[in-house]
Amino acid sequence: MTDLEKRSDRSPVPADWTYAPAPESTDIVRLQERYGLYVGGEWLEAAEHYATIAPRDESPLANVAQASEADVRNAVGVAREAAAAWAALPGSERAKYLFRIARILAERSREFAVLESLNGGKPIKESRDVDIPLAAAHFFYYAGWADKLEYAFPNREPRPLGVAGQIIPWNFPLLMLSWKIAPALAAGNTVVLKPAETTPLTALLFCDVVRQAELPPGVVNIVTGDGSTGAALVDADVDKIAFTGSTEVGKAIQRRVAGTDKKLTLELGGKAANIVFDDAALDQAVEGIVNGIYFNQGHVCCAGSRLFVQESIYEPVVEKLKKRMATLRVGDPLDKNTDVGAINSRMQLEKIEELVAAGKEEGAEIYQSPCRLPEKGYWFAPTVFTNVAQSYRIAQEEIFGPVLSVLTFRTPDEAVEKANNTPYGLSAGIWTEKGSRILWMAQRLRAGVVWANTFNRFDPTSPFGGYKESGFGREGGLHGLEPYLDFV
Ligand code: NAP
Ligand code: MG
Repeated sequence: MTDLEKRSDRSPVPADWTYAPAPESTDIVRLQERYGLYVGGEWLEAAEHYATIAPRDESPLANVAQASEADVRNAVGVAREAAAAWAALPGSERAKYLFRIARILAERSREFAVLESLNGGKPIKESRDVDIPLAAAHFFYYAGWADKLEYAFPNREPRPLGVAGQIIPWNFPLLMLSWKIAPALAAGNTVVLKPAETTPLTALLFCDVVRQAELPPGVVNIVTGDGSTGAALVDADVDKIAFTGSTEVGKAIQRRVAGTDKKLTLELGGKAANIVFDDAALDQAVEGIVNGIYFNQGHVCCAGSRLFVQESIYEPVVEKLKKRMATLRVGDPLDKNTDVGAINSRMQLEKIEELVAAGKEEGAEIYQSPCRLPEKGYWFAPTVFTNVAQSYRIAQEEIFGPVLSVLTFRTPDEAVEKANNTPYGLSAGIWTEKGSRILWMAQRLRAGVVWANTFNRFDPTSPFGGYKESGFGREGGLHGLEPYLDFV
């Protein structure tokens, strides 16, 4: 708040309600200049390194190892050596380690939140209130299953697979790591995980949590690098590949794994429909629309990127939406008031710009939040397209940025048909007052998750995953344990 206005005998009130900067200090984060590979509980030197940067101003943060094929093979070998002893531990002992990791993540949550925002560009209020608490919650949740696998899968004699190779994207770095590592360890596997090229730092800080928790060496191994490191992990002697990322790379991995006995789960892209009926609570729906597409700059696989509005309420919804968009604060991810942070990388920014240009060219009408974007770094203003046809690229392709396409429908049947008119099927949202309509719609929508009168809600007990080109396999809940187990 800026200047306070003196009002004689009464307490002062602000003359201007805009927010003053409230930057979170980065002092809590201590980065090394250079990182190696975390293998067998030790830091191994790598031959090559690359710089990882802060997308808010493109400043370099640290040099990170580019793991070679031989480095990856070595890490998998170390994980294999550690597998038998880890699997042989009583489940209650494995649980203790997972509980410890969860507690340490919670204790060091501020450090993780600051680093996540610094390296990834997401607003600190999201990493602080969503990413890090959910990451800890996943370890807590799966710790609870570690000694109850036989009850989770009665009469099926669950056994660990051995070594899991895990590859994750850059949009929720620590959270995706937790989705992968927690169930794998609870089930008795050891892991080799490759973080995304642009966001390796919280995974590297996680190695320090593993050390603090005194996890046996070799149970968790982290190898950083680009796509070639991921490809080397797919080809290495692992028993399972768990991949989250783009549909394109997912398909390539599926081809590599075909004909081997490696198990595979793929969590891929999405183009979710967020469907608003005329009986919905409009102000709440608008909050859900905004959360659905502008949360994490729209770098969300389940983002509600296609908004379907019932024709009769099209005008008020679009008007309310634009008004709300004008209040979004875009800027420094480390500022506690920021709603929309930096775009993760130059490459991603270029992809967003390309698709937005295509939208304009194809004839859609564009509206952007009236905000001032910082000069350095990667930024994109919250954007909405109206007058969108289903055939437009912005209605078909995943933009993975703060860009919403608005379409309309008249009847529930039409809403279902249009919502399902996509190669993806990860998530969907329904806004209506009618419970019966929610159930009717949810049965017909081809999407792994359907939210009703809310959006982007996550809980470790709840399975998450896709239909069609959004992949297969589920993460979260009991469903998320099963792909890490073998049964008789
Ligand atoms: P991406 O390019 O597919 O990358 C994902 C991961 O795979 C990264 O670690 C990447 O390394 C690695 N990789 C790249 N090429 C590879 C190859 N040939 N073999 C093995 N690994 C390879 O995806 P992204 O751009 O990072 O992430 C965005 C995508 O992820 C979006 O499509 C989004 O929808 C999807 N996503 C899905 C979910 C879900 O749960 N369904 C969650 C989050 C994100 P580099 O970092 O070096 O490229
Ligand atoms: Mg990539």
